[in-house]
Amino acid sequence: MSTKPKTDDRPDLMTHSIPAALQQVRSTLRKAARAVGRSDEATLIAVSKTHDAAAVKQAIMAGQRDFGENRVQEAEAKFPALKAAHPDLVLHLIGPLQTNKVKEAVALFDVIHTLDRPKLAEKLADEMKKQGKSVPCFIQVNTGREPQKAGIDPADLSEFVALCRDQLKLPVMGLMCIPPADEVPAPHFAFLRELAKRHDVQGLSMGMSGDAAEAVRLGATHVRVGTAIFGARPTPPQS
Ligand SMILES: *Cc1c(COP(=O)(O)O)cnc(C)c1O
Repeated sequence: MSTKPKTDDRPDLMTHSIPAALQQVRSTLRKAARAVGRSDEATLIAVSKTHDAAAVKQAIMAGQRDFGENRVQEAEAKFPALKAAHPDLVLHLIGPLQTNKVKEAVALFDVIHTLDRPKLAEKLADEMKKQGKSVPCFIQVNTGREPQKAGIDPADLSEFVALCRDQLKLPVMGLMCIPPADEVPAPHFAFLRELAKRHDVQGLSMGMSGDAAEAVRLGATHVRVGTAIFGARPTPPQS
C-alpha cells in the first residue's frame, strides 16, 4: 500500500475549489456569530501549512488576508514574495516557536499564537526591541493539561501573564488553545474564555476546521481553519 496517495486516487484534490470553500466557511462562521447575537466578526485565519503559494494566491484572490503557518522555515519560503505583492496580508504563526528562530519569526510574522514559556517570552521581548517591531502575541494555554502538549498550565497562567505583560511589556493580545483531540472541544473553549476574562485579555484564538463554528459561538476572536479551506493536507503536519 502506498503511503502517499496519488492525485488520481484523490478526486477531492482535483475538484476542490478554494474560493467556494472559503465562502462556505465564512458563511458558517457568520451564522454561528448571529446565532449567539454577536455583531462582531471573528478573524478567519486560513491555515496554509503544507499548501503551496499557488493555493495561497487563490485564497488571496477570493479576498482572504489572514494566513497561518506552523513552521518558520516553510513560511519564509512562501510568504515574503506574497507579502511584497500584497502588503495588507496578515501572517500568523500558529506552531511551536524555537528560541533560535525568534529573530526570523519577529521579522516575518504579524501575530504569534504560541507564546508558551518564560524563556521564549524573554527572547521575544528582546528581539522586538532590537527590531523595533511590536508583534502581538497570544499565550498558548494547555487547557487539557496534556503532558506532551505545549502551552502554559492553567495553574501557572497568572504568573506567566504578569511576566509577559507587566514585566517584559509584551503586547499580549489574548489566549490560545488546542483542545485534546479525543475530547469534546466546547468545555475547553468555555474554559479559555473564562481564563481570558479573569486575566483581562481580549483575544481568543480557538477553533479549527472541525469546531470553528462552536468556537465562534463561545467567543473566539480568531479561528484557525486549514482543511475546510484548502482541502486535505498532502502530508501530515509535523509540529
Ligand atoms: C494545522 C492547524 C490548524 C488547522 O487545522 P485544520 O483541522 O486543518 O483546520 C489550526 N491550529 C493549529 C495550531 C494547527 O497546527
